[in-house]
Amino acid sequence: MNKIAVGILGATGVVGQNYVRLLGAHPWFEIVDLAASPRSAGKTYAEAVGKRWLMETPMPQRLKDRPVRDVMDYEAIPPDVKLFFSATELEDKQSTRDFEFAYAQKGFPVVSNSSANRWTPDVPMIIPEINGDHAEIIPSQQKNRKFPQSGFIAVKPNCSVQSYLIAIHALNQAGYPVDEILVNTLQAISGAGYKGLTEPERRITVNPLIPGEEEKTEKEPTKILGIVENDKIIPDYSMDVSALCTRVPVIDGHTALVYLNFAGDVPELEVIAKIWTEFHGEPQILQLPSAPEPPIQLVEQEDRPQVHLDVDNGNGMAVTIGRLAEDKFFDIRFVALSHNTVRGAAGGAILTAELLVKKGYIKHAGEQLT
Ligand code: NAP
Repeated sequence: MNKIAVGILGATGVVGQNYVRLLGAHPWFEIVDLAASPRSAGKTYAEAVGKRWLMETPMPQRLKDRPVRDVMDYEAIPPDVKLFFSATELEDKQSTRDFEFAYAQKGFPVVSNSSANRWTPDVPMIIPEINGDHAEIIPSQQKNRKFPQSGFIAVKPNCSVQSYLIAIHALNQAGYPVDEILVNTLQAISGAGYKGLTEPERRITVNPLIPGEEEKTEKEPTKILGIVENDKIIPDYSMDVSALCTRVPVIDGHTALVYLNFAGDVPELEVIAKIWTEFHGEPQILQLPSAPEPPIQLVEQEDRPQVHLDVDNGNGMAVTIGRLAEDKFFDIRFVALSHNTVRGAAGGAILTAELLVKKGYIKHAGEQLT
């Protein structure tokens, strides 16, 4: 079987290294291109990363000597690349938007971790268990921007949103729409990239401010829960979110303390637990290679989920929920945990790409991918 040749933009960073780790034995995708800033360009991958390799598994031997390309050096893109994963942020959002569009303009699908294109109206922002159908906007994006048929951009949302939105979607789908959420996040230092992991003071303090994070956490669900109609993504404003986001001395894993009210009937706690336990999204139905089974793991123990025990559930792709209870001020409350650099970044984007392959938006050599 011919694998799909992929490139990683921002391959030297925390998310980039996670792509390298997760794609090491991927059944459909094979890394053939590693790109980063001009600081890394021209060096081998091992030299460019140097002492910054943060994965628990060793750097794959076959990539160590591969030269790193400058992300702006389009001439040097290997001819066989069919898909790019983007995990880089240029000096400002407009430059990042333009650079991702430049790749799409050259005919490449780009699945991005950056926030730059999340609010571009014709760019789908996808959590595969929730809104894979938003990929239907891709042909309009290609038409609007005169991209070649193969080129487009799809993005994944902010890492904090992944911890709880699948659980909310499962309740909505089961006929118990949620209309108010108060969420406090306890976010890992790896969420701030390599800098976050290497500034010593971050390991001994709780920082009550993550600039821009609360706005993203409150706003992004409206687009994700929206519908595609007449070539537009119509946001869903029926649910209001109030978020307070903090950075805590944890390496990997964003925890969300969630309080919510239902719009109508309040289901019994046992009913909620059953809805979450039985929930399956499109990735599970299609049995995509990176789909966690089950996507929501419920833990009974009162002192769970805990980052060091639960963050790797479902290979870092599951959302783990515990402490489901009635609340004094809200209908219910619970604690949800997800892995920010896996489900919230590289793994979430890989799952999105798998879905886009299955739906025919990312082309491959024609043989059946299994
Ligand atoms: P990081 O560790 O700081 O890595 C940044 C990467 O971008 C490196 O490969 C770096 O290359 C490259 N880069 C920086 N400036 C560049 C420039 N001017 N031109 C080209 N490449 C440049 O950051 P990260 O945590 O991996 O995050 C990458 C992206 O993913 C960001 O947009 C971030 O917001 C998003 N994200 C991160 C997480 C997370 O949990 N960390 C979660 C979701 C989304 P050099 O090594 O050559 O400098």
